[in-house]
Amino acid sequence: MTVKTRFAPSPTGYLHIGGVRTALYSWAFAKHHGGEFLLRIEDTDLERSTQESVEIILKGMDWVGLHADNADNIVYQTKNFPRYKQLIQKLLDEGHAYKCYCSKEELAQMREKAEREGTATYDRRWRPEVGKTLPEIPAGVEPVIRFKNPLDGVTSWYDLVKGEISIPNSALDDLIIARADGTPTYNFCVVVDDFDMGITHVIRGDDHVNNTPKQINIFKALGAKIPEYAHLPMILNEQGKKISKRSGDTVAITEYEDMGILPEAMLNYLARLGWAHGDDEFFNMNQFVEWFDLAHVSASPSRMDSKKLAWINAEH
Ligand code: GLU
Repeated sequence: MTVKTRFAPSPTGYLHIGGVRTALYSWAFAKHHGGEFLLRIEDTDLERSTQESVEIILKGMDWVGLHADNADNIVYQTKNFPRYKQLIQKLLDEGHAYKCYCSKEELAQMREKAEREGTATYDRRWRPEVGKTLPEIPAGVEPVIRFKNPLDGVTSWYDLVKGEISIPNSALDDLIIARADGTPTYNFCVVVDDFDMGITHVIRGDDHVNNTPKQINIFKALGAKIPEYAHLPMILNEQGKKISKRSGDTVAITEYEDMGILPEAMLNYLARLGWAHGDDEFFNMNQFVEWFDLAHVSASPSRMDSKKLAWINAEH
């Protein structure tokens, strides 16, 4: 089996340190195993995605020297719409998905009830079940398509950074996989692409942990092999808050170039932001690839030390 990882940024802003570190670990893991590191641009959010962002991301990857093995054939989700449509139809045909005609008002009521009772939001009103009478189809309403999530049991996986994670299926909604206008939704596209690209290890930020059980269930329904997952803890600033543009602790990765930081120094710094190899502080990328393993990625958030970044600047 060839190990295949991917970096899947959404082109809705610039590429910052957090994204580059995710890409770096994903790249190092693939290379350590003699595998491939692929790039996918997740541009299905047509309103927020921009070509300018795509270019900034590509430039940032290039500057740090993280080259994707599919550089000549980058996957753009907007080009895969026919494929998503095909698999949505397959799920419908095989009874893994169904049409839901709920109005906004009905959904708002369900949300209120779910909040009171601490259950999944959608009450599965349109989910076909043996012996159940479905509501009458309202005239002139285009349905959304929902995925039939399992009702009982748990969805679990062994996370290569966080260990065993188990979510009760009763807490998972019957996810919308196609909107009323027919466009596919985010979690569905991710699964289809990870499947089609043959991704063996999904290495991404832990802000996606909640998406993973939803994605695993879709993999199962498609009869596809479920990849391994590794969720990387966030990078925090020195005050312990998630780094953000507003607090001034993240900038586009390429801006560090203007500050005189060398890409190698930046990668060395990022490599050690949440991973360690004994006391080794400086290493080249070949050593990093040789030594890198997910078992030594810290399960708790890393703190960014901006003084140290300034120091990298001065020393290298
Ligand atoms: N596009 C997502 C992001 O930029 C990443 C999704 C994933 O890695 O599965 O946060």
